[in-house]
Amino acid sequence: MTPAHFIKSFTLWEFLKAHALTLRYFFKPKATINYPFEKMPLSPRFRGEHGLRRYPNGEERCIACKLCEAICPAQAITIEAEPRDDGSRRTTRYDIDMTKCIYCGLCAEACPVDAIVEGPNYEFSTETREELIYDKAKLIENGDRWESVFAANLAADAPYR
Ligand code: SF4
Ligand code: SF4
Repeated sequence: MTPAHFIKSFTLWEFLKAHALTLRYFFKPKATINYPFEKMPLSPRFRGEHGLRRYPNGEERCIACKLCEAICPAQAITIEAEPRDDGSRRTTRYDIDMTKCIYCGLCAEACPVDAIVEGPNYEFSTETREELIYDKAKLIENGDRWESVFAANLAADAPYR
């Protein structure tokens, strides 16, 4: 066999192999999904949009210890606090600048009362930067909205914490 023949038969073999591969994947189930109508399952540890949780009686969980603010590597959290009439310490301001947040989850890990958590919501894009500066009311609203998922995820992860 001359070198020219060898190269020709080698190229033909590679060509057939490539098309066989294409055909094999053509009939396999598709790896892509039809987002947003279909969504992938999420881990209970998924770190999406934040929420501030409350106890079932409506009382805020956050005790204004500021551990989340201290540990946040992006310095995205701003807290102000003062004692209430009953002596308990509560936040008067709890902001998260979501444009700074890197979704590391350290705030949730540091929280001694599971007040600040990151949940499954990743669909919170906005048209303005200002809308991504979350205040306490927004975070508590998120907490109320996602509480059942937050609680289920924390329960699922509890054996590993
Ligand atoms: S997830 Fe990380 S970066 Fe974002 S607010 Fe929490 S500690 Fe800060
Ligand atoms: S959210 Fe948790 S860690 Fe942050 S101030 Fe409140 S109690 Fe402390």
